[in-house]
Amino acid sequence: LQLLARQLSASIASARAYEQEKQRAEELARLDAAKTAFFSNVSHEFRTPLTLILGPIEDALAGMPKSLEGEPLELVRRNALRLYKMVNTLLDFSRMEAGRAQARYVPVDLSVFTTNLASAFQSAVESAGLRLVVDCPPLPEPLYVDPEMWEKVVLNLLSNAVKYTYRGEIRVSLQWEDAQAILRVEDTGVGIPEEELPRVFERFYRVRVTQGRSHEGTGIGLALVQELVKLHGGSVAVTSQLGRGTTFTLRLPRGAEHLPPDRVEHTFR
Ligand code: ADP
Repeated sequence: LQLLARQLSASIASARAYEQEKQRAEELARLDAAKTAFFSNVSHEFRTPLTLILGPIEDALAGMPKSLEGEPLELVRRNALRLYKMVNTLLDFSRMEAGRAQARYVPVDLSVFTTNLASAFQSAVESAGLRLVVDCPPLPEPLYVDPEMWEKVVLNLLSNAVKYTYRGEIRVSLQWEDAQAILRVEDTGVGIPEEELPRVFERFYRVRVTQGRSHEGTGIGLALVQELVKLHGGSVAVTSQLGRGTTFTLRLPRGAEHLPPDRVEHTFR
């Protein structure tokens, strides 16, 4: 009887512990959802007035004779635009976190896609005094991506490469390995200290002493990249040498079996 009583009280205790654990998990999920909704609402609310600031500034600048183009107004425009971009990134991120990112995967010629994106970046790279090397040979088959999301991934990596590189080159390359597409964005920039490498994909994480070309940023670009790549069943990794450069490597599996079937279209782009 004593044994039975002991067993009974042990199972009551473990049921209680389970219930508490469950409540804690529910509470955490609720808080997480509230935080995401908060970010999403705040970014939304910020966007409208910002658009209303940017519009008239653009108009005023457009109507100004070249000689009168006031520098202060240009400064206002640049900073409003910067804020606008940050708010958009935040919004992208919170939307995705809330699972509202409605991906649409289509087969894409990744070689053409990447080459076009990199070429669009050519002038930004050159005006930063850097060289752009694009090495994207055709792959044996198309890859399933959401074109808009994948564009965000590549553009985020490219703009970071420009931001954190003073001299040298930015190299974008594509390869086919183990039935996967491997996309690399390499730079000869400031690099990332080894101990901080694992943290760069964390939300809002910015390397403490990075001497980037400009210090603007939110620290969510790479978190967004990682989430978007995961949504494609792929992975992103980084290697870096301080003062020598950084390489981001994306891996994207072939085919569409790993993707939710209702989000896949088979029309080739
Ligand atoms: P940020 O908006 O600060 O650029 P990211 O999430 O894109 O945010 O990057 C996080 C941090 O990782 C950056 O603040 C920077 O310190 C570091 N980083 C990202 N890309 C590079 C790169 N190509 N070279 C050196 N450091 C980088």
